[in-house]
Amino acid sequence: MGSITLKNVSKVFGVHAVIPSIDLDIDDGEFVVFVGPSGCGKSTLLRLIAGLEDVSGGEIVIDGKNATDLPPAKRGLSMVFQSYALYPHMSVRGNIAFPLKMAGEEKAVIDKKVADAARVLNLADYLDRKPRQLSGGQRQRVAIGRAIVRQPEAFLFDEPLSNLDAALRVNMRLEISQLHQQLKTTMIYVTHDQVEAMTMADKIVVLNRGRIEQVGSPLELYHRPDNLFVAGFIGSPK
Ligand code: ADP
Ligand code: MG
Repeated sequence: MGSITLKNVSKVFGVHAVIPSIDLDIDDGEFVVFVGPSGCGKSTLLRLIAGLEDVSGGEIVIDGKNATDLPPAKRGLSMVFQSYALYPHMSVRGNIAFPLKMAGEEKAVIDKKVADAARVLNLADYLDRKPRQLSGGQRQRVAIGRAIVRQPEAFLFDEPLSNLDAALRVNMRLEISQLHQQLKTTMIYVTHDQVEAMTMADKIVVLNRGRIEQVGSPLELYHRPDNLFVAGFIGSPK
């Protein structure tokens, strides 16, 4: 199912090796957090996995198959962005159903999948509203709903909560963790927030200047940091 392996993956923009070389194994069902300071290459790495950027070198294996040259739609992954990217003129129902309509699914199938997603995300009472009639948290749930209906091998989140206020962020953090427990689907979650990383992750990947400083569970990183960067980063929440 949703295992992802990166072998010697690199990305060069112009003369700038943003990601010199990364090896990483993500197991099916794991909740993996990429954490690191702004500009360290988190989004780039996620976009390489999603296929939104081409690798400069190396190999991406998804579910045991070489996916390096597959287009995004063929990788079986769903990405959730920090800007919700909802269609303002469509209802919540329309937004969630959109990827299924694009895939040519039958109406009965679409209706069932949308209803299931709405139930999981507590959006059942809001299906006929437009995005502007929703709170920030509800909009983010719609964006997640749109990812869920595709039943992906893995979800890729790029700082999905950074536009929300602090209280809502704590709520959504819990909701995404609960969603993971319910769906048991692989999730890769990018954040620069140490608290999010420590509270949500099965496995944390600490990135710095396009390199992996350390991979481990929150407790491992906290108690046995490999170096001063990891110790400083994990030990000093902002
Ligand atoms: P993060 O998500 O960790 O903040 P990014 O992956 O967005 O970091 O960026 C990592 C580095 O790559 C930055 O130095 C950024 O300026 C550079 N970068 C990202 N995308 C591009 C691009 N399309 N062209 C040139 N440089 C880029
Ligand atoms: Mg980013």
